[in-house]
Amino acid sequence: MARAIPTTAAAALLAVVATTAMAQEYAGRDRLRAQSAEFRREVIQVASGVYVAVGYSASNVVLVQGDSGSIIVDTGTDSTAARAIVEAFGPRLRRPVRAIVYTHSHPDHTGGGRVFAGDDTPDVIAHETFVKATPEAGRGGREGGDQFGMALPVDQFINVGVQAEFGRVVPPTREGYLPPTRTFSGDESSLTIAGVYVQLLHTPGETPDTIAVWLPDARVLMPGDNVFRAFPNVAPIRGSRLRNPEAWVASLDRVIALKPEHVVPGHTRPVLGAAASGATLIVYRDGLKSIVEQTLTGIRKGERPDELVAHVTLPPALAANPFLQEFYGGVEWTVRGIYADQVGWFDGNATKLFPMPEKERATRLVTLIGGVARMVERGRAALAAKDFTWAAELADYVLVNDGAHVEARRLKAQALTELAERQVNAIARNYYLTTAQFLLKDLPAR
Ligand SMILES: [Zn+2]
Repeated sequence: MARAIPTTAAAALLAVVATTAMAQEYAGRDRLRAQSAEFRREVIQVASGVYVAVGYSASNVVLVQGDSGSIIVDTGTDSTAARAIVEAFGPRLRRPVRAIVYTHSHPDHTGGGRVFAGDDTPDVIAHETFVKATPEAGRGGREGGDQFGMALPVDQFINVGVQAEFGRVVPPTREGYLPPTRTFSGDESSLTIAGVYVQLLHTPGETPDTIAVWLPDARVLMPGDNVFRAFPNVAPIRGSRLRNPEAWVASLDRVIALKPEHVVPGHTRPVLGAAASGATLIVYRDGLKSIVEQTLTGIRKGERPDELVAHVTLPPALAANPFLQEFYGGVEWTVRGIYADQVGWFDGNATKLFPMPEKERATRLVTLIGGVARMVERGRAALAAKDFTWAAELADYVLVNDGAHVEARRLKAQALTELAERQVNAIARNYYLTTAQFLLKDLPAR
């Protein structure tokens, strides 16, 4: 006769199975948490006379010492962050600051110039396209969502994939901003500042105005946000245009050819040593290039976005690389972004030439299923079955015509929260959770 497993042992076994299953379910969130180690505060010496302050601001700030002063590359989010960095650099920041160089125009890199300048009068250098950079159209809390998670309670916030400022992101203030005083046009510019020979290469990527700062003597490369330890954010969900992925790949080709000894990205920790630097840049280029090529090949075959995202993935040799994890940008979003950019809004299905408005479709689907109560009931069943995206979609069919429907709001908020807790992508997590918070706001307690 087989011996029955004692009840307590069986319970213990079940608990182990449940814990393991749960650990797998939330593996994405755990990996995102681990990514926060990339932003622990530290001033890191990269090479002789080159230091980077990581984790004091949303973005990194680099100090280059010269024989008659200093160069600052990027200035952090705002004056508060910049003051903390000046203090952290301490006497390593040799006055006067002779130049401030902006790798690109994003606010997290350009908010602290006044603090670094102090009483000095540095040249403030950028590419000429920097001053032509137009504000992006989208932004705003669409549907109550926010990729930065600025309105999230601290206990729900982990990071923003490539940044975390004091545990959470704050809206940038611009009172510390210094506009460029010197710009260059064309591909590159070479100059000597405080005795340091510097080359600036126009390398469009995350922004059209991005420049890579190259120190040929120390062989240090500062590629701005064209490289960091996360998949590139080619097609941002926050409402901005596609960031030209082909130009981005070409820019990576250009910096790979420099054979840098060290790479200091605009976010996350520096890569030290020629072997690691070369390998990282190549992996980053190859990963992005592969996604672009697979997408374009599929488009040529007539594939639609849903068909493309089903098979376009990073090649196995690259998929596990720490620099290509989807903490920030996403492969699927990149594919959809390239499709929209290359092919346009229309997916080729004649039914969708003049799509039925979503309110009309929702009304008809609610009728089809037997009413609003039935739709919500189906949504709850989907939630119970851990079919979270479907649960959120069923809630949408109610909310699109009755945004105040309490049970549908609650259902969608629960579904989004579950989706968020399973995400490795910080932007997706923050957007899900901020939308959930928006949906639950002012709802009566159960
Ligand atoms: Zn940045």
